[in-house]
Amino acid sequence: MSTSDIPVSRNIVTAIPGPKSEELHERRKASVANGAGCALPVYIERAKGAIFVDVDGNAFIDMGSGIGVTTVGHANDTVVEAAKAQLEKLTHTLFTVTPYEGYVAVAEKLAEITPGKFAKKSILVNSGAEAVENAVKIARKFTGKSAIAALDHSYHGRTNLTMALNYKSVPYNLGFGPFASDIYHAPNSYPYHDGLTGEEAAKNTIKYLEKHIGAEQLAAIIFEPIQGEGGFIVPAEGFLPALQKWANANNVVVIADEIQSGTARTGYWYASEFFGIEPDLVLSAKGMGGGLPIASVTGKAEIMDSTNPGSLGGTFGGNPVACAAVLGVYKEIEEKKLLDRAKQIGEKLLSVFNELKAEFDFVGDVRGIGAMVALEFVHPGTKDPNPDVVKKIVSYAAQQGVLLLDAGTYNNVVRTLPSLAITDAQLDDALTVIREAFSQAV
Ligand SMILES: *Cc1c(COP(=O)(O)O)cnc(C)c1O
Repeated sequence: MSTSDIPVSRNIVTAIPGPKSEELHERRKASVANGAGCALPVYIERAKGAIFVDVDGNAFIDMGSGIGVTTVGHANDTVVEAAKAQLEKLTHTLFTVTPYEGYVAVAEKLAEITPGKFAKKSILVNSGAEAVENAVKIARKFTGKSAIAALDHSYHGRTNLTMALNYKSVPYNLGFGPFASDIYHAPNSYPYHDGLTGEEAAKNTIKYLEKHIGAEQLAAIIFEPIQGEGGFIVPAEGFLPALQKWANANNVVVIADEIQSGTARTGYWYASEFFGIEPDLVLSAKGMGGGLPIASVTGKAEIMDSTNPGSLGGTFGGNPVACAAVLGVYKEIEEKKLLDRAKQIGEKLLSVFNELKAEFDFVGDVRGIGAMVALEFVHPGTKDPNPDVVKKIVSYAAQQGVLLLDAGTYNNVVRTLPSLAITDAQLDDALTVIREAFSQAV
């Protein structure tokens, strides 16, 4: 069976999860460690565009894209062809031993699409967390300083250093310490809760950085321009430019973790562009490989080149097949004008979600840029987190064949980041189910 016969609309034919999924789940429970959690025990067999089909033949509309990975769509033809062709030619050499063109071509393209007109260089790695780790290494080497600041509500990964950068301990960090040292958490901008302008919020953040750490010790500040796991928190206008200005004036490297917000997700190649900043280092991962594992650190040439030969890399970093897939993703984004499509999808999501906010008093906030839009749920009349209603909505939608993802420090956010290949009909259908899910959750 291939992906060519995948339906274009959702179609639920068994209970969710179905019998074959349940059988697989029993096998999984006996063989896969608990730490690898499971949001929805529905086992997926094939996928195309914004639809995936499980082992029981149920077709779902995927509103999460594997957390913004299949941005150009599941099994995108351009990506599949590029990866297939590469698979037959060359799958590995180890770039730092004997190089190949794909890695260089991806680095050239990254220099073109990341914000800022200055000279840039890149390294390619295997995962988002690895990109974060490397960015921190590079910033420390370049500045000769050691402290790193992240923001409240941040998420940067599950390796030791990135755990230390996470805001939320459970489930990511609990029991896994001791953690990397010289890591700090500064206040973020969270307009719905702090009510501050970008400038006011930045003033607080900078005061914290100066008083609690000191610019003379601070190597880098790392932030997600839109916080992903934190619940698609969009900072107030002016917050990120003010932080960048302060960092630039104090020899503090600005690292934009665009692992979730980058690669066309927001209707810009990188969300930094929307906010009017030019980070020193930009991290890409999720949407970049169209489903193949690859990530990158791209930054100012003089910062990237401050590292010694042999100090960055790894066996699989910038795998040839993954590089071919990345080039396919970029081609698809350009040829199908997916930046515009992300904006259209975002307008639709925002307008429907704002209607829902007017209708349902458990919706506290609706926010997002491009096809990265979320709702924050509260107890009516307060701003207190309401994770129960999120559980009900996500579970109802799954039963109906719409996959929604939760998010947020308090698990009280529903985030939508559909594939940009989603059709208008699929999007409308998913939104109808979401509306029903809200009514059911009252
Ligand atoms: C997913 C994510 C990471 C970690 O990426 P992995 O590939 O899972 O290691 C880091 N930062 C952000 C913003 C992410 O969304």
